[in-house]
Amino acid sequence: MSQKYADIIIDISHEAVDRTFQYIIPEELMDSIEVGMQVIVPFGQSSKERTGYVINITDKPSYDVNKLKSIASIPDKSLALEGKLIKLAAWMKEKYGSTMINALKTVMPVKEKVRAVATKTVEEEYLLEKGPVECLNQEQQNLVDEFNQDLSQGRLKTYLLHGITGSGKTEVYIECIKAVINEGKQAIVLVPEIALTYQNVARFKQHFGERVAIINSKQSKGEKYREFMRAKNHEVDVVIGPRSALFAPCKSLGLIVIDEEHDNAYKSEQTPCYHARETAIERGKLEGASVILGSATPTIESYCMAKLGTYRLWELKERPEGSELSQVSVVDMREELRLGNRSIISKELYDLIEDRLAKKEQIMLFLNRRGYNTFVSCRECGEVIKCPKCDVSLSLHNNGFMMCHYCGHMERNPKECPKCKSKFIGGFGTGTEKVEEEINKLFPKAKTLRMDKDTTAKKGAYSRLLTSFLNHKADILVGTQMIVKGHDFSNVTLVGVILADMSLFANDYRSGEITFDLLTQAAGRAGRSEKSGHVLIQTYQPEHYAIVSASKQDYEGFYDMEMAYRRLLKYPPVYNMMVVLMESENENKLIASSKEIFAELSNMAKGMKATRTIGPSPATISKINNVYRRLIYVKSNEQSELKAIMDKLEDYDIEGINITLDVNPVKMY
Ligand SMILES: [Zn+2]
Ligand SMILES: [Zn+2]
Repeated sequence: MSQKYADIIIDISHEAVDRTFQYIIPEELMDSIEVGMQVIVPFGQSSKERTGYVINITDKPSYDVNKLKSIASIPDKSLALEGKLIKLAAWMKEKYGSTMINALKTVMPVKEKVRAVATKTVEEEYLLEKGPVECLNQEQQNLVDEFNQDLSQGRLKTYLLHGITGSGKTEVYIECIKAVINEGKQAIVLVPEIALTYQNVARFKQHFGERVAIINSKQSKGEKYREFMRAKNHEVDVVIGPRSALFAPCKSLGLIVIDEEHDNAYKSEQTPCYHARETAIERGKLEGASVILGSATPTIESYCMAKLGTYRLWELKERPEGSELSQVSVVDMREELRLGNRSIISKELYDLIEDRLAKKEQIMLFLNRRGYNTFVSCRECGEVIKCPKCDVSLSLHNNGFMMCHYCGHMERNPKECPKCKSKFIGGFGTGTEKVEEEINKLFPKAKTLRMDKDTTAKKGAYSRLLTSFLNHKADILVGTQMIVKGHDFSNVTLVGVILADMSLFANDYRSGEITFDLLTQAAGRAGRSEKSGHVLIQTYQPEHYAIVSASKQDYEGFYDMEMAYRRLLKYPPVYNMMVVLMESENENKLIASSKEIFAELSNMAKGMKATRTIGPSPATISKINNVYRRLIYVKSNEQSELKAIMDKLEDYDIEGINITLDVNPVKMY
């Protein structure tokens, strides 16, 4: 047997991962050693025995072998909590293409003393209020019973809870968590962002009181560390927080819940670009915990897994008594143009707004703007110019050309619509400010509020805006997607989607899914009380399947169409798609290197069964802070082939060029 070596960190801490020490693995320990294991090693000049953790095993020594010491012993062959987190990091490194150090830094808590005690935020004060305790209906009870049965028989599963808006997913989570706590175990609950979901978080607080640790992005590192230590010491049963709460070092983990599992916030934007869903399932396997994913609009990836039987599909189709599905209508903006209305507000939307203002009810106007690109569309027939190879919309550039940001395909801006020859073709884009202006002009007496990145930049601005709308200080709230996420406004009876096409024709293969999600969420916002709601969707393509199925609130129908599209064009989940982002301050060097790398990767891919390369192309934002950005895409449905490409990319060390990998990105680069 060849000699093997172990990279070891002494003292398990976030800071220690930069300092690894290599040791020889003695033959008698060879069979039992694995990544994550605790070992005793002689350390320093005096060779005093210290405890360390194995983070990597290799057959290539990095130092002079004669100077290496040997591991003394393995005190305990089972993996301790820290060991399991190290193992999770090793999995992340393989899966997402990162260094072990970056992966370890992601999973290890950052040790820091707690600074001044933070004052309570509006959201936290809300948490202290008591609310009614809901009873489960039969549908919910059946799911909880099944969970209990699986739990008692030791069956670990991933459940996908697909429940329509308002169907009571949170009650199911709470009952399942109670079951886990009864077994002496803990639960982690992930939410997209605490500030956006505090009404939900409040429910957990009502049930579990002081035995809950809440993590949020505004906490200092010290505060977060303190909450993590409460989890480690089992002083809490439940940890709630955003993506990073997944790594709470719970002493005895029994369940991980991911609420709103479709949310993009679950994908890390820093290396390793891990997805919390996949990583939670892996952590569950390592620690013997089940996973519940919940959403009204599950990702295509998750629903596909549920259809295949890998996840257990749970459905909640009943709404609580008294609440009805909103009425949804679709307005064809091509007709508006034909009738001579050039405003961004259709006649029907105008009439509905007028009606609600007269009744003193409230209105939300929603702009599903996404990203930075402007697509080119015909205002007479609705045609959108797309890439012939990738079937995503081309982005308009200032230089008179349109471009595909997947493959780099370019063509000149059209002077007329290729379909109907209309001259009304061009870039389409409108902002929240423009909509607010138009509303003020059309309804001078109505009070409006605007909610977007600009108006919520200041601390506390977000809750202030919401509170004042909730207290009816304004009649109309104009905003981006942040207004449709999870808030209950009982007086809102009209939601207007200004132009559904804005997200539908983003230059991204997920644009149909994103649009369906946003429209479904928007529909869920209207009529959350006894007053019935109306959702009006304005679009130039009323026949698009994402719009048709969203208006009927038909997830299944949407899923079938979307899967067919993904299959046809080999997009995830059918294929894995990895983006290789190359960045440099030197544009010429970047262009040359990206071509070189692309040529090499393409060559590799040619010898492979199920892998192909696309690009190189400039990123959607081709320059940030004087750093140029170019992309290569790798599509593959063979994990080992993708891994070989990742390994090849890891070997590149080109001065002045930074390479980042993102497997199955959820944002447009
Ligand atoms: Zn046309
Ligand atoms: Zn293309």
